[in-house]
Amino acid sequence: MKYERTIYLAHLESLQREIDKLNKRAKRNGWDLLEIEVTESYWREVKRRDHFHNWKTIQQLVCDVVLTVPETTFDGWKFLASVEAINEVGNTIRSLSEEDLPDWVRTVEMSRCDHCGAHRERKKVYVVKHESGELKVVGSSCVKDFVFGHHNVQVYLAILEHIAEGWRAEVGGYEDGDPEMAGAHSRAMNGAETPHIINMGVAAIERYGWMSNSKARELLDVESTAGVVYRHMNGFLHKNEEPIKVEDAHKEKGKAVLEYLRGDDFDPDKKRLSDYEWNLSVIASGEVCTFNNAAFLLSGIAAYDRMMGQKAEDARRAEQSSSDWVGEEKKRLDLNLKVEFARDFEGTYGPRRMTKMVDDSGNVFVWWATSMFLEPGDVVEGRGTVKEHSEFRGEKQTVLTRCNFEILEGVGV
Ligand SMILES: [Zn+2]
Repeated sequence: MKYERTIYLAHLESLQREIDKLNKRAKRNGWDLLEIEVTESYWREVKRRDHFHNWKTIQQLVCDVVLTVPETTFDGWKFLASVEAINEVGNTIRSLSEEDLPDWVRTVEMSRCDHCGAHRERKKVYVVKHESGELKVVGSSCVKDFVFGHHNVQVYLAILEHIAEGWRAEVGGYEDGDPEMAGAHSRAMNGAETPHIINMGVAAIERYGWMSNSKARELLDVESTAGVVYRHMNGFLHKNEEPIKVEDAHKEKGKAVLEYLRGDDFDPDKKRLSDYEWNLSVIASGEVCTFNNAAFLLSGIAAYDRMMGQKAEDARRAEQSSSDWVGEEKKRLDLNLKVEFARDFEGTYGPRRMTKMVDDSGNVFVWWATSMFLEPGDVVEGRGTVKEHSEFRGEKQTVLTRCNFEILEGVGV
């Protein structure tokens, strides 16, 4: 796996030292070595908030780093993912390899260990794959027995997971320079009720804007929304910083966000979820959420905002669009159309061109062509059958099939 990151130039030396240490261990065990590539250093300008939450522009001396972590195999087995039990809905998946995982892993029984066969409560299991293709689920304490003679394998796994997580703690994001703060953090809450974390997130975003963990990492030393929520829920406030209070309006939006995350868009029975969507749906379905998973949960607010933005955009387009459905489903139509847009797709049965056309009244027609590839600007005349009347992003579209066109003007063939 390759990991790309921008870091302060001042941090390069310590990173290099860490990697040297890991590679020493790797050499001793005969594992492949981690590789690091570093660009020339450069200055960049970053906008960030200071502790009083005023925006200011600062200069950072940084370099880009690419870390390549080899896919080490142990007696022919390699690690695909770590799987963590969250609740009765399922597990969250952290991919440790570039290979795709089968969906059953998402709900695999955590009591299962294909190595020892012992049924017991487990918080975490690993999915491993043999060169022959065989997949196994192995309990975390069995990992080192599983790959005999590789007692350092747990260390290796810890490294992999640490790197996958982003080289530093996801939530909180505190450097442990301040011992007093570190003590306070170790006494901090481990988690809270899911709706409350979301409500706090809504209120935090209203005040400070949305900042994902990955964006915060990219900007260096910028606090993520999850970080703000963690601090405020645990009472670690900056000097002169007003505590974030959840008002009724925050609760109302929080409720809508949770309904969205627990609804059809995140239902694995309704559509194929990506790993990200799956993890989010599992975490959101829980009554409580740990701070480790809070960043994931809070990204659901941003997802909700994007969805609402898209809905508003669709409504605006529907309002503006003069397109109406034409004809009747399954009936032939005489057509006189102009091609507005064309895009090629590679399908199971070869290439298809999605062709979007309009008639004189502004009605929109869509045709998935496999033979006649028209170009934008072409004017065609002919016949086609109405396959269905559909709607895309607020626009009514008449979907055509079995078209027979003659090009009157244009460049298509
Ligand atoms: Zn076991």
